[in-house]
Amino acid sequence: YAAKDAGRGKHCFYEQAMHTEASDRQVLENDLRQAIDKGELWVAYQPIVRTAGEEISGFEALVRWDHPVRGRISPDKFIPLAEECGLIPRIGTWVLETALEEAARWPDQVRIAVNLSPIQFNDPGIVEIVSNALTRTGVRANRLELEITEGVFLAEGESTDDTFGKLKDLGVRLALDDFGTGYSSLGYLKKAPFDKIKIDQSFVRGAASKTSRNSAIIRAIVTLADSLQMETCAEGVETHDDLHLIRDLGCSHIQGYIFGKPMEGESARALASKTTVV
Ligand code: C2E
Ligand code: CA
Ligand code: CA
Ligand code: CA
Repeated sequence: YAAKDAGRGKHCFYEQAMHTEASDRQVLENDLRQAIDKGELWVAYQPIVRTAGEEISGFEALVRWDHPVRGRISPDKFIPLAEECGLIPRIGTWVLETALEEAARWPDQVRIAVNLSPIQFNDPGIVEIVSNALTRTGVRANRLELEITEGVFLAEGESTDDTFGKLKDLGVRLALDDFGTGYSSLGYLKKAPFDKIKIDQSFVRGAASKTSRNSAIIRAIVTLADSLQMETCAEGVETHDDLHLIRDLGCSHIQGYIFGKPMEGESARALASKTTVV
């Protein structure tokens, strides 16, 4: 009897745990649904620096959620949730408009990079959303850089190819984000008119350590990008050693804690009006 009871108890425990997990998600989803209206979402800006001269090229907009009870929740957690429960178009459009409003106050040469989820990119209305946001805020199209991942091609819809062309016609810039983490990146480079490749942090961080094969990979990516006339940005540069290596390898742009963590709009505004970060 004892064994049987224990087994049954265990079974119940698991079921309950699963149930708790599901309703927990439900609660978070409902909270997220209201987060925009309640003003719990905000946008942080991280500087992207030109390697030559170390001047500010622009900022990447990174969304933040300050939950009233749970505190700060990482976008790595709530963006996937927003994608699954259909909230990403609304959140994404809000980030785009907020970031462009902010960028409108910066000096005219400073760019703004905004992440676009594959779901947003494959929405047939995306070109109009971007175009309207540019018109409304008065930001020149070529100051806006849309960061997209290979996920765009996996979820490819009928309008994908068309969207690339129409966004280029608008004059916005396109960056391939998290390069090197997916599967057939080279095919995508041929397919779409990217202006920049963002080399994923997993290659960049610690690349300067002697045994690292990462520097060979970064060098190859830079050579490839150069010959395709694309810019490169190394993400996640934290140390001086990595900074020097990245500079030697010829990446045109650098982003990382060494130059600045994601910051509030006000701080970004102050930094944007200076020409160099150091
Ligand atoms: P991502 O687009 O690759 O953004 C870069 C991430 O690396 C950011 O994390 C940034 O804070 C972090 N990072 C930058 N430099 C360093 C560094 O030197 N060291 C370390 N340790 N980290 C660094 P964050 O802000 O937590 O964002 C995580 C991911 O969430 C982003 O990765 C992006 O995929 C997604 N995300 C953030 N905001 C948005 C958004 O508005 N829309 C969409 N669709 N996704 C977003
Ligand atoms: Ca990004
Ligand atoms: Ca990235
Ligand atoms: Ca990432």
